[in-house]
Amino acid sequence: MSSKAYRSTRSSENQSLSFEDVVMTGLANDGGLFVPSKIPKLPDTFLEEWKDFSFNELAFNILRLYIEESEISNSELKDLVTRSYSTFRTPEVTPIKKIDDDVYLLELFHGPTYAFKDVALQFVGNLFEFFLNRRNSKKAAGEPKDIITVVGATSGDTGSAAIYGLRGKKDVSVFILYPTGRISPIQEEQMTTVEDANVHTLSVKGTFDDCQDIVKQIFGDKEFNEKYHVGAVNSINWARILAQQTYYFYSYFQLRKQLARNSDKVRYVVPSGNFGDILAGYYAKEMGLPVDKLIIATNENDILDRFLKSGRYEKKSGDDGAVKATHSPAMDILISSNFERLLWYLARDIAAKGDDNKAGSTLNDWMKQLKETGSVTIPDEVVKHARITFDSERVNNEDTVKTIRQVYTTSSDDYVLDPHTAVGVATTYRFIAKDDKADSIKYISLSTAHPAKFSDVVSQALDSVEGYTDFIPEDLKQLRNKEKRIKLIDEASLEKVKNAIISELNF
Ligand SMILES: *Cc1c(COP(=O)(O)O)cnc(C)c1O
Repeated sequence: MSSKAYRSTRSSENQSLSFEDVVMTGLANDGGLFVPSKIPKLPDTFLEEWKDFSFNELAFNILRLYIEESEISNSELKDLVTRSYSTFRTPEVTPIKKIDDDVYLLELFHGPTYAFKDVALQFVGNLFEFFLNRRNSKKAAGEPKDIITVVGATSGDTGSAAIYGLRGKKDVSVFILYPTGRISPIQEEQMTTVEDANVHTLSVKGTFDDCQDIVKQIFGDKEFNEKYHVGAVNSINWARILAQQTYYFYSYFQLRKQLARNSDKVRYVVPSGNFGDILAGYYAKEMGLPVDKLIIATNENDILDRFLKSGRYEKKSGDDGAVKATHSPAMDILISSNFERLLWYLARDIAAKGDDNKAGSTLNDWMKQLKETGSVTIPDEVVKHARITFDSERVNNEDTVKTIRQVYTTSSDDYVLDPHTAVGVATTYRFIAKDDKADSIKYISLSTAHPAKFSDVVSQALDSVEGYTDFIPEDLKQLRNKEKRIKLIDEASLEKVKNAIISELNF
């Protein structure tokens, strides 16, 4: 089976799904996530052959390894890549930035919404349109067209990145629910000032959890689904993980060039929530990118850090078991949905001794246990294996704020971190403090958002620092003057949301 064939993490039967199937379906119907059972291995020569590639050339070559040419031809794939990254504000797409001798930031926020999710969602929007277009062009006149109605809930970042990825795409509609008055003004402006007719924002009187519950119920509504083909763009979509692999390769080559030597070990530090960003790094490492360690940085919602330390994957946070609201809200999660993909590979390679189907039944058991009891203990030998690649730290709000201040005051150019990035950088400095000085290790710490998106926390950190003035990029400032399009839903009710969607679609 090639690395272009996909299967569900929870299936114990032979499966061989296409890339198109997994992208358009999102979640498998057994509740599992789609994975390529074989991760492609690059020949050693790739380090030399790819080192001068542009971001787009790397993206093309990586995507090619996971998508059959019969599904997307070379020229179509090149076109998809070019269009997806032409919306970024820098030709490098994801540049690296040195902040001290051992630490480089990988700036992932140069896309349209100033958050790392753009790297994946710009591509996903184009993919949806590409597949729908092909399906619809084969239809006879009068036959109903294939459509997708993307429905999602957001507490901030995902919503705007999804909207900017899907705006104006043919046969795609997008509905984003958010809790009224509970997202930042910039995030609301970003989402509600988009003029494209296929974009709809629903401000729901309720909490983020209410919004998420409604979305889940819509996904479970068979009749509604058959009619409107509800689609998801949350980070369980395989295309997002795939698209994120490019910047690990690109930053690795950029770093090597800046250092002009190959002796140092390279570690990646990734501010993590749903484990999508760092999972892309795992694929890159498995493909052959010489990465010493992948380091998970969590906020106080620390299920991943607790897992690596204890071997127990346990849903708990705070005394009431609710998610904690932190300074890095895009990482406020109870369970990291993409972690299931890593567990599948670990189960397959260690517990199931290479048997895909056995891995599926093992995973299914673990996930059932997690669902029923809120906790699952993973066998020792599996956890030990995970620790070869991964390490972790947990960073609280206080250290997040301190790190923003520290980097601003010590960097030569008054560099301002966003709070998510600061969780990663705080983790990086803890590792540097632990390092054996005999080793030469360079850290690439992922920068996942522009500070202007979380300016309240940034101001809190820097207001007392002399010379600091709050800044917001000009195009974000301009949003204030644009007309907002908001549909208010005055009650967190499934029926009201469904009716709003139906009436907007039939308009
Ligand atoms: C989504 C997000 C993260 C977390 O990424 P995961 O893939 O969920 O681990 C971190 N920082 C920012 C700014 C984000 O938007």
